[in-house]
Amino acid sequence: MDKYKRGLVWLRRDYRLVDHAALKEALNQCEQILVAFVFDTNILNKLKKEDQRISFIIDSLRCVDQELSQYGSRLIIRHGAPEEKIPEIITTYTVDALFFNRDYEPYAKSRDKKVQEAIPIPVYTYKDSVIFEKDEVLTKDGGHYKVFTPYKNQWLSKLNQEVMKPKSSSNHHFLPVSEDSSIHENRWFELLGFSITQSFLPGGRPHALQQLNKFKSKIQSYHIERDFPDLNHTSNISPYIRFGCLSIRELVMFALHYPSEGADIWLSELIWRDFYQMIVATHPNCHIESVKPAYDLIEWEGHDEDFMAWCNGQTGFPIVDAAMRQLNTTGLMHNRCRMIVASFLCKTLLVNWRKGEAYFAEKLLDFDFASNNGGWGWASSSGCDAQPYFRIFNPTSQSKKFDPDGRYIKTYCPELAHLSSKEIHDPPPIDGYPAPIVDYKLNRQRALAMYSVVKG
Ligand SMILES: Cc1cc2nc3c(=O)[nH]c(=O)nc-3n(C[C@H](O)[C@H](O)[C@H](O)COP(=O)(O)OP(=O)(O)OC[C@H]3O[C@@H](n4cnc5c(N)ncnc54)[C@H](O)[C@@H]3O)c2cc1C
Repeated sequence: MDKYKRGLVWLRRDYRLVDHAALKEALNQCEQILVAFVFDTNILNKLKKEDQRISFIIDSLRCVDQELSQYGSRLIIRHGAPEEKIPEIITTYTVDALFFNRDYEPYAKSRDKKVQEAIPIPVYTYKDSVIFEKDEVLTKDGGHYKVFTPYKNQWLSKLNQEVMKPKSSSNHHFLPVSEDSSIHENRWFELLGFSITQSFLPGGRPHALQQLNKFKSKIQSYHIERDFPDLNHTSNISPYIRFGCLSIRELVMFALHYPSEGADIWLSELIWRDFYQMIVATHPNCHIESVKPAYDLIEWEGHDEDFMAWCNGQTGFPIVDAAMRQLNTTGLMHNRCRMIVASFLCKTLLVNWRKGEAYFAEKLLDFDFASNNGGWGWASSSGCDAQPYFRIFNPTSQSKKFDPDGRYIKTYCPELAHLSSKEIHDPPPIDGYPAPIVDYKLNRQRALAMYSVVKG
């Protein structure tokens, strides 16, 4: 087949030039290529003006731009609706084929459809952000799995060298681009209407690699230490995975490089990620309907004031408050704590889990629609392979078990710093710290009654 003269690679959640499926194919199929990113106003207009992800994205794009400039090109950056900006770039640069990696989220799918309809050139899309797409790991009857463990076993049985092979090309014939996107200047924050004074976490591939490097000494004992928020023994790689500063293939290869129980469990977490991507791809309405529809019949009894106390880390339950304050001040939260606060919101405060899902979506640096929806579905019992509805985390027992000395709590709730390991999980009245806003035992009974509509 003749090569295209000029191909455009559109970056969306894959901010790297290494092991990148769409880029590899574009380099193979085109004489010259250019790489573009659109700050999507459909998304940006809904964000708070201090949203930390903008800073992370700008850092990451800077790294891509720097790398492209080594090949004599630049990253083309636009600000607007992709269905307008991508056609404009195609016209300006007389592009004759568009390449991008597939994204399975509901909004992304409708965005990509609009872009494809707006352009008169061929569009090529690729699997890149998952190891297996929805129809690649199927039950014996050809259906989609609803339970994780058999999905994982089938996933593992399909993993081979071919799937893992890096998607890289040795040809780097990028189009010399003269426009200066000036991503190196702070003007991008102004242009986008954001004001970020200090960033929680630097974005970009070099930082992602550093982070992964730090995890080398922890992966083999991951299975023992991962559940203790104070130990910081997880990889902390999620924002870099979310924005594709590393490829998922690199991460699976990393896990396989350290054969051990720890690495096996860590690999399982990456498989959970693929599982939730599959659930989203097979439940296109999961942003508005529960995966288990009966759960949409629940009449939530919780109050707005309690939801606000939860958001602000002022519930009087120290482990919950510490976790919410970690989220508010760092954009991240340890996985064990995500499970605790999510369960607490819907099964102790009796607040609709969709509100918590939306709050996480607003605050998390690693916010990923599929993993977030899956995590909330698990905690609220409304998702696939979720907790049974009658399993309700007791925040005090969780706290004693996973933060026995209260070190995590004390990091984020300094007003409790003087308490002993015994007192910290259920503190006596303290000036400047709220008393518990609800009675756990009473609300446990109320939750069971509230959830009873889903029985049968
Ligand atoms: C209510 C709730 C909401 C969540 N929202 C998100 C989200 O928006 N974005 C997100 O990336 N993760 C989400 N998670 C999953 C998990 O909490 C984070 O991936 C993890 O805490 C990130 O820390 P880490 O990189 O140190 O993880 P590690 O423990 O080192 O795990 C490695 C990677 O595996 C993946 N992973 C780990 N656990 C899960 C999981 N349960 N589900 C899917 N993928 C997983 C992540 O990509 C993670 O970076 C959520 C979990 C819950 C319970």
